[in-house]
Amino acid sequence: MRAHDRNWRRGWYNHRRWHRIRRHQFNRQPLCETCLAAGRVTPAQVVHHVEDHRGDKAKFFLGELRSLCRASHETIHQRAPRPWIGPDGWPLSEAEQARLKIERSIKREDDDDDDDAGRRLVQPDRTHDS
Ligand SMILES: [Zn+2]
Repeated sequence: MRAHDRNWRRGWYNHRRWHRIRRHQFNRQPLCETCLAAGRVTPAQVVHHVEDHRGDKAKFFLGELRSLCRASHETIHQRAPRPWIGPDGWPLSEAEQARLKIERSIKREDDDDDDDAGRRLVQPDRTHDS
């Protein structure tokens, strides 16, 4: 598969630089920080961007990170659901949102170690990682 056939998110999450950052984050904090704050010791499984990078390459690679377990990561995203944004820059209709939610949740299995991968569509001017 050619690189530009993947969407930018897959591209960045597969990027060697991201793997390095991720490994570094797990070395620095191997435990879920949310669980730790609640007095539980849980191994971290997901590296989460504290600030939503929204397709911003600098934020993606340089943004503040948290080590989280999968459950804590899910909780964060369920607590703050955000609408998918269509190519025109406006949130999609309820029906579209519902359809994408189902579609994305099916795909989720191979998004294991990604931070919120595939949760949102991205505006077209930011889709290309050049
Ligand atoms: Zn946790």
